[in-house]
Amino acid sequence: MTEHTLTVAGVAVDTRHWIGGERIASSETFTDVSPIDGSALGEISRGTATEAAAAVAAAKAAFPGWAATARAERARILHAIADGVDKRIEDLAIVETHDNAALLRSHRRGVMPRVAHNFRFFADWLLKLEHEEFETRGHTNQVSWDPAGPCVLITPWNAPLMLATWKIAPALAAGNTVILKPAEWTPLTASLLADIAAEAGLPAGVLNVVQGYGAEAGNALVSHPDVRRISFTGSVPTAKAIGAASAANLVPTSFELGGKSPLLVFADADLDLAVDLAVEQYDNAGQVCLAATRILVEESIADEFTKRFAQKAATLKQGDPRDEATDLGPNIHPRQLEKIDGFVQRALAAGARAVIGGAPNTDLGGLYYRPTLLTHVAQDSEIVQEEVFGPVLTLQTFATEQEAVALANDTRFGLAATLATGDHERAERVTAQLVAGTVWVNCFFVRDLQAPFGGSRQSGVGREGGTWSFDFYCDLKNTVTAPKGWRNHG
Ligand code: NAD
Repeated sequence: MTEHTLTVAGVAVDTRHWIGGERIASSETFTDVSPIDGSALGEISRGTATEAAAAVAAAKAAFPGWAATARAERARILHAIADGVDKRIEDLAIVETHDNAALLRSHRRGVMPRVAHNFRFFADWLLKLEHEEFETRGHTNQVSWDPAGPCVLITPWNAPLMLATWKIAPALAAGNTVILKPAEWTPLTASLLADIAAEAGLPAGVLNVVQGYGAEAGNALVSHPDVRRISFTGSVPTAKAIGAASAANLVPTSFELGGKSPLLVFADADLDLAVDLAVEQYDNAGQVCLAATRILVEESIADEFTKRFAQKAATLKQGDPRDEATDLGPNIHPRQLEKIDGFVQRALAAGARAVIGGAPNTDLGGLYYRPTLLTHVAQDSEIVQEEVFGPVLTLQTFATEQEAVALANDTRFGLAATLATGDHERAERVTAQLVAGTVWVNCFFVRDLQAPFGGSRQSGVGREGGTWSFDFYCDLKNTVTAPKGWRNHG
């Protein structure tokens, strides 16, 4: 235990950066606070341009060695990291829950096993990554995925380790080195991952973690000229700032951003399923980029749907996220709670009606917001057009399929869309017209790493997943070889 260690529920976490295989402290720190009860978890090193430059230099120095490491050996080390994650699932789960207040039971049983899966999946995918050769007038074309160099990965707080490893795993598998800057509200599991990766035998400098604020450490990293890829998950305004910085160096950048996704419920749907899908949108206290926050219901079933939705939502248990029985924990930060309530109060003042919720949960105090459903909202209103990122849903009705599609597509986002319908032909027709990176029909949140993931319009730029991840994190090269004895007479 040193002055640079904090403990969360008995788990020790190093509060320093991880650069070039060493723990480096900054002279200044920032306080990491738990949203569960507002308690200070500890002081974290606050990175600046100095630490950012050191991390990029370490990643640059480690790059040739890691890029030249045989695919099978890279895959072996990624599998060892996955095994290390599996061994520490309890530690990772409890630390993440204290840091971002998402449910402990989800971290234990869903999120952290998925973190391990991220490493295994991309390790295995690397080993089968191949492009079929093709011929041009007797010449062979061979496509290869060359590692690009140091990659800067910037991630948000709503699913910290899950989203970070979704980028780290393919970037490392591809033979790149990485500098991760986790969100300043949730710095802890990234530090544990650095320990796990080092124990798994990942060479020094291949994975670096710089802690700190976006405007300081983050901006210095994305502006650095030696960076070869930037992958960002977060909000649209930050993406615009990062896009401007990366444009200065012409660095390929991938953006996974916000959403305002629709759930379309047709009269021919299984109503119980549709209600379940709608209530599921309160998961993680509504702090899910993919959440279908705009419920669009066919007029003829709107009253019945709303009644059943309210009944089902009333069974949700709001409380301490460490309690196995809890369905809905607190939101992340006082600023976020204020933002959520601001959206709701302005909507109510503009004529919206709260079927349920509409205010913070004062019985629980702290950062708990009551699950909220608003009706009588106008399509062009703020509450329908802007991402709230809290447990707030709107409900609108439609008369025809055409109107449903028009409402669904009428925002500046295009991350996901969900349909509840019993008519397969309708599902195909509607899906074809929706602007969204992912469409779920009669289901939600089924995500396979083989699938392309990303958003259209202002929900993102680019797709990651399966080979798409390798396309992004690599420089693709085509090698054309002439047949034996060929002479160019042209
Ligand atoms: P944010 O944009 O405020 O911050 C995200 C990260 O960017 C943090 O690490 C932050 O420190 C960093 N950052 C801030 N300014 C920066 C700068 N100038 N240069 C470099 N880095 C900078 O987002 P947030 O509030 O942490 O996350 C919530 C947002 O993330 C929501 O909009 C949500 O929809 C989105 N999100 C999207 C996905 C997806 O896959 N599409 C997944 C989860 C969250």
